[in-house]
Amino acid sequence: MMKQIVDRARKAFNTGKTRSLDFRLQQLQAVKRMINENEAEIKKALIADLHKNELSAYSYEILGLLGEIELTIDNLHNWAAPRHVQKTLMTISDEAYINYEPLGVVLVIGAWNYPFVVCLQPVVGAIAAGNAVVIKPSEVSEHTAKVLEKIIPQYLDKDLYPVVNGGVPETTELLEQRFDHIFYTGNTAVGKIIMTAAAKNLTPVTLELGGKSPCYIDKDCVIDIAARRVTWGKFVNCGQTCIAPDYVLCEKSIQGKLLEKIKDTIKEYYGENPKESPDYERIVNKRHFKRVLALLEGEKVAIGGQHEEDTCFIAPTVLTDVKGDAKVMQEEIFGPLLPIITVQNVDDAIQFINQKEKPLALYAFANDKKIIKKIISQTSSGGVTGNDVIMHFTVTELPFGGVGHSGMGAYHGKHTFETFSHKRACLIKSLGMEGANKIRYPPYTQKKLDWAKFILATKFSKKKLGLILLPLVAVIVAVILKKYQGELASTGIQLVLAFRRLF
Ligand code: NAD
Repeated sequence: MMKQIVDRARKAFNTGKTRSLDFRLQQLQAVKRMINENEAEIKKALIADLHKNELSAYSYEILGLLGEIELTIDNLHNWAAPRHVQKTLMTISDEAYINYEPLGVVLVIGAWNYPFVVCLQPVVGAIAAGNAVVIKPSEVSEHTAKVLEKIIPQYLDKDLYPVVNGGVPETTELLEQRFDHIFYTGNTAVGKIIMTAAAKNLTPVTLELGGKSPCYIDKDCVIDIAARRVTWGKFVNCGQTCIAPDYVLCEKSIQGKLLEKIKDTIKEYYGENPKESPDYERIVNKRHFKRVLALLEGEKVAIGGQHEEDTCFIAPTVLTDVKGDAKVMQEEIFGPLLPIITVQNVDDAIQFINQKEKPLALYAFANDKKIIKKIISQTSSGGVTGNDVIMHFTVTELPFGGVGHSGMGAYHGKHTFETFSHKRACLIKSLGMEGANKIRYPPYTQKKLDWAKFILATKFSKKKLGLILLPLVAVIVAVILKKYQGELASTGIQLVLAFRRLF
């Protein structure tokens, strides 16, 4: 069955219709219409899957996606246009450019935590780049998966953009098919399965994974602002955000104040009882509920800790004086627990961060930007926000993705278009200038080599030579070569070397 779906997508791709930018734009307009006309149903599914509030469902899952579609529609002609590149003396009269071409049939596998946007945002870029896209939503967020399966074929080309729903067996069967790219969002363990399956067909992958994103708070910092921002980023979507700050690192001297401010902020955002708050989500299912609760074992709960299995509720929870080797520090938490680990100073924090796998995001709060820059320069992560959390994600010009165990490849805005495109190197040579070309043909001589060295290895600065002078030099070289066929080669080289010294 999966084979037939992929074969049909490939056949549709091979008709060449996705090569047309007008066709792609028409499909992107259809995605936009699909979202606008089914907004109520999409929000209902998100509420059912994650207990999202209607307003947050719209702002976190729909608004950004509509913005991304708009950006793509507005810029597609520009992004897809051939990019002319700087040429060498040897190719000065030729045409050299990068052509963005579709990869073919790509697979997009979504995750459940932001099930609508995480699934569709890469699809938008894949359509824009002219691919056929097999869309596999997460089965964990089953309501959203069903809505996607229902509405996508109502608006988009059915053969080019099929939706496949199912769990591990279906995804495994899907992964046996040959794709031209696989874009996976989810956890690191499954990321390895995806990459192994892709390797069999030498299929390139983008892996949008997770990890433990650290958050350093310097003692010289506006603590209440840091507390407000961290509280938001940690507890939004009940902590189930790939770039949520996973844990806080700070000096012991500010732990008490930070805790107090976080407590006030939780109350401000979610009221006395977060369980009653319409703005506080739930853990996606019982399996994850139990997993998150188990991370609390043996820890000092300073705030929160309340939970209810029937509704998968876990209150916003803060743990203090957590040890670096605690269970809660061994894996990505992906739930509403915030451990605070005390460090001696910023260098200690950097060392702590560097002992772990490279995270998806890194956060640092400090009045002095130099401290933030120091942390950036001495650590590595997919992305960074200084003096806030999550916000680098919202800048579409910035590539969003991981490094090391937090993933590979990136997307958002033009980066998504590039991820799903092959950058084809194109050179169209003129049939003239054969004299200049002779240096690369046998018989090989020292004189030809000297000329080749000059023409290929000399780094002419375009700025110094000027746009007019450069072709002129090429013409002179070509004329000399053609006329004297190397007899005056050595004299020529002397002249040109002298000429070069002038610049
Ligand atoms: P999940 O359980 O929904 O799994 C993701 C996808 O993998 C699903 O479509 C599922 O069908 C498929 N899958 C699961 N097991 C599989 C297997 N054995 N073989 C093949 N496919 C399989 O989501 P999850 O992994 O629990 O998602 C949470 C993780 O995703 C967290 O680590 C989070 O940080 C990360 N995440 C990353 C981003 C990002 O943009 N980098 C975004 C969201 C989530």
